[in-house]
Parts: sequence; structure tokens; C-alpha cells
Amino acid sequence: MSETIRNVVILGSGCSGHTAALYTARANLSPLVLEGHEPGGQLSLTTLVENFPGFPDGIQGPELIENMKKQAARFGAEYKTGHVVSADLSRRPFTINLGKETIQTKSLIIASGASARWLGLPNEQALIGHGVSSCATCDGFFFSGKPITVIGGGDTAMEEATFLTRFASKVTLIHRRDEFRASKIMLERAEKNPKIEFLMNTVVDDVHDASQKEVTALKLRHVKTGLVWDFPTNAMFLGIGHDPNAKMFQGQLDMDHDGYLVTHKFVHTRVPGVFASGDVMDRRYRQAITAAGTGCMAALEVEKFLEAEGHH
Ligand code: NDP
Repeated sequence: MSETIRNVVILGSGCSGHTAALYTARANLSPLVLEGHEPGGQLSLTTLVENFPGFPDGIQGPELIENMKKQAARFGAEYKTGHVVSADLSRRPFTINLGKETIQTKSLIIASGASARWLGLPNEQALIGHGVSSCATCDGFFFSGKPITVIGGGDTAMEEATFLTRFASKVTLIHRRDEFRASKIMLERAEKNPKIEFLMNTVVDDVHDASQKEVTALKLRHVKTGLVWDFPTNAMFLGIGHDPNAKMFQGQLDMDHDGYLVTHKFVHTRVPGVFASGDVMDRRYRQAITAAGTGCMAALEVEKFLEAEGHH
């Protein structure tokens, strides 16, 4: 057990975590950031970011996130590799269990994000950022005039497919069943769009071509006939859902039916001193800029909370 009690621990090192770190560091609270399994969060998985204000020519996602980290570190934010196994939020100071080590803290910001679901194909990870993407608004633009595929049968897949028709020569939506989970209105919008074609009862077995570092085709399989074929395309966008990284707080904090943290009054959880920001509490906007915004809000709330508790 570590002897020191931290003022504030921030879980997660995506956009939201770094912003919370910057603000709490500049408030002289010496924050500790736990970087988690996916340091840098979803920005580190994308290429050019063109919708983060302040970068008229865009900026590479990994560079943007590295800049944020440097900026927070310059003011004294401390970073540590560590993944939270469990936490005790029932008494103060709160205890964070990292497996080999526990950390005690007066306040906590949960900015652990949401992880895009991937299909788990042999060549999928190697092609992320090279035609495999889970973010149409981030990466769609790069495939102007090219054929694109979208995987999934829910609202995200419909929304991505519809959005991507702005750029693509054609969008093919591939779904593993013959029924959609998507809401009627979203489905109808996609069905009415002349640029979208549907391939039903079809699954992706692999994506080519990792050796060329670009997507050239998908290996598809019809689940009823067993037919396997290569389907030429330049991009595969996954719309098969995200999972919020909040399982370790089950039973201690309010969550919705999909496991997203429910906040009350902006970034407050139901435990005083515990705040949530970014994609772990936001299933609606899920943008870098909104994650940064709620990270800032959580940091300001931490300051207020510690001040009220008599912290100097
Ligand atoms: P969903 O869980 O609703 O849908 C995921 C889709 O991906 C399903 O069709 C599912 O297939 C498919 N899928 C999941 N895993 C795999 C796999 N391994 N291989 C192939 N297909 C797979 O997630 P969404 O992200 O679409 O939506 C999440 C929530 O957010 C929903 O409540 C949705 O309504 C909401 N949302 C609302 C929007 C809006 O209103 N503008 C926009 C986007 C999301 P199957 O159906 O066979 O299970």
C-alpha cells in the first residue's frame, strides 16, 4: 500500500484524461494519470484529425494526443502505466487497485473512454489507420471517390453508411443477419440512398492487403450458402458498437443498460469526489473536442470539491 494520498487520480490518457490532467496540474494538484491498456485512447488509432479546432491543416491523431500529454506534463502531471483492476469508492480516501499496487486518492476522474469493437480478423489490427477504421467522421474524407464498406446492422452502421456516401463512389453495408437492429428511420434513410448497397447474411473473414498497407478487398462468406469470395473495396468501417471501459465500477456507480457511466449535474457521479468525463459517460457525441471539454469540467469540479474539503 502506498503511503501517500494523492489529491486526484485520473483514469485514462485519451483526450479527456489529458485535458483533466492539464487543468488539475495548473491548479497545483499534482495529478496522477493512469494510462490504461490503450494509452492515448481512440485518437491514437486514427490518422489525420481535421475537426479539432486550432489546426487549420489538420493534425495526426497520435501527434495531437502526444502534444496534450506534453502540455499536461509541463505543468507537473505525472503519468503511470497501470490498469485498474478494482476500486473501493465506498470510503475516502478512495482506493484504486492496480493489481500489484494500490493507490489512495482524495478525488477521482474517470476518463477511461470506450473501446471500439473490432472483428478480430487476422489482418485487421495491421490495417487500422490504413483503410480499417471505426470512425466515419474521422476518416471518411480520405476515401473520396472510392468504394467503401461498412460493417454492422445497428444505428451506428446506418449513420456511418449514410455519412460516407458524401465521399464514397459507393457504400456497401455488410450485415451478418437478414434483419437489422437499427431504428426504422435510420434504416429507411440508408435504404433510400442510391449510393448504398446491402449485403446481408454475410460476414467478413479477413481484410487484404496488410503487405501493401492498404485495404484492397475483404474476404467475405455468406453464412447460409457458405460461399466465400473476395470483395474489392478501399476501406472497411466498423459500426459494430463500442464498449465503455467502466466494468470495474459496477455496483458502485450508476450505469445505463450498456455500461456507460451515468452522470448527474454534468460530470458528477453519485459518489462525491468521483467525476466522469469523455466517452465513458458520453454515448451521444463521442468527439475529441467534447471529450476534452468534459475533461476540463471534471477538473474544475475536482478543484471545487477539494477546496470545499479544506484542501490547500
Ligand atoms: P448496436 O449494438 O445497436 O449494433 C451493433 C451491430 O453490429 C448489430 O447489428 C450487430 O449485429 C453488429 N455486430 C456486433 N458484433 C458483430 C460482429 N462481431 N460481427 C458482425 N456484426 C457484429 O450498436 P450501435 O453502435 O449501432 O448502437 C449503439 C447504441 O447507440 C444504440 O442504442 C443506438 O440506437 C445508438 N445510436 C444512435 C444513433 C442515433 O440515433 N443517431 C447513432 C448511433 C448509435 P446483430 O444485429 O446481428 O447483433
